[in-house]
Amino acid sequence: MITQNQLATTQASLEEAKQSVLFTTARPDLVMERGEGMYLWDTEGNRYLDFIGGWAVTCLGHAPAVIRQALQEQASRLIHASPAYYNRPMLEFASRLTSLSGMDRAFFMSTGAEANEGAIKLARRHGARNLGGAYEIITTVNSFHGRTLAAMSATGKKQWEALFAPKVPGFRHVPLNDIEALVEAVTPNTCAIMLELIQGEGGVHSADAAYVRKLRELCDEKGILLIFDEVQTGLGRTGKLFAYEHFGIQPDILTLAKGIGGGFPLSAMLVKEAYNIFEPGDQGGTYTGQPLGMAVGLAVVNAIVEQDLAGKAAEQGRYLTEQLERISPRYGLNNIRGKGLLVGLDLPEANGSRIVHECLQEGLLINSPSPSTIRLMPALIVTKADIDAMIQIFSQVLNRVYKA
Ligand SMILES: *Cc1c(COP(=O)(O)O)cnc(C)c1O
Repeated sequence: MITQNQLATTQASLEEAKQSVLFTTARPDLVMERGEGMYLWDTEGNRYLDFIGGWAVTCLGHAPAVIRQALQEQASRLIHASPAYYNRPMLEFASRLTSLSGMDRAFFMSTGAEANEGAIKLARRHGARNLGGAYEIITTVNSFHGRTLAAMSATGKKQWEALFAPKVPGFRHVPLNDIEALVEAVTPNTCAIMLELIQGEGGVHSADAAYVRKLRELCDEKGILLIFDEVQTGLGRTGKLFAYEHFGIQPDILTLAKGIGGGFPLSAMLVKEAYNIFEPGDQGGTYTGQPLGMAVGLAVVNAIVEQDLAGKAAEQGRYLTEQLERISPRYGLNNIRGKGLLVGLDLPEANGSRIVHECLQEGLLINSPSPSTIRLMPALIVTKADIDAMIQIFSQVLNRVYKA
């Protein structure tokens, strides 16, 4: 048993240890220690209802049996074999993902940024081989594609424009849903268009169906690649297994991460057979197709399909949206939007970080991707009771902030 005194010492040394972590972002004082289902607990025993979902990652909830079992079983058989060899879970996972998505080939990495980095390289390989050296990739304003230098260059975030110069050249940004701007940006130097079907970090903004269909036509006509970055929207998040199913078209390259490992660092790039064109040495990585990650990914994706978590995300997303609509007139919430369990809304004032902080104090985790926006992305296993509990805390905080 830990005595009160020992507990205090532990907290004090944790406090001191924070000085050993490189500063990259402001974090609240608490230290997370344990998770189960929809909840996280900190080292002081406070419980938090998690509507950030590990940043749209922990789709099966925290510490689910499915992942614990897959980890245990695979860890006792084979943790790592080297990227030089096939391994059994790599083959099983690749064939499962390609058959579920209608894509043909899979390449695995650990993060979303790396998956996109792979997509960028494959698009340039296509440009070099099939389009006379074309290398430019068009992406959208307000998009987010990750934090490697190329992924940051692809990202359409205003605040990043001046960062880490010189950027990787070869990216053009056009406003989402503006087909004329896009047509104008296409030149003989264009090898691909890369798009989030719903901009996640940008604040939950959807591409229009007509716009996406037009992109597909344009890409087919010009022989340029259509890349969907479904790092955030993939694996059931939007109420379909893949967000492109809402649009009835397929990409040439699809990138997945976040939910695919349910919390294990895992990402994938899926490609059509016509673009199975890397040459030996073009692409790789020490941890590509690493057995432990592959076994987890396979277990997570199987659980999503078997439990119809995409269907459940659609249903619970409707309920969440209805409940938000119900309370919105009271607090002046606007523009409740999104699909499935990727939901955004606008606050009446640009005080998102205060709302986030006050919700945290009341035991609710939510995210504010920009000062006047709130984003919700709970685990796909969220229940109506969890949503009711969330709405209750959220209303209480809004009441205090906007009615005081
Ligand atoms: C989170 C995210 C990324 C980056 O993924 P990391 O795993 O953080 O590298 C890329 N694209 C989109 C759409 C994302 O939401």
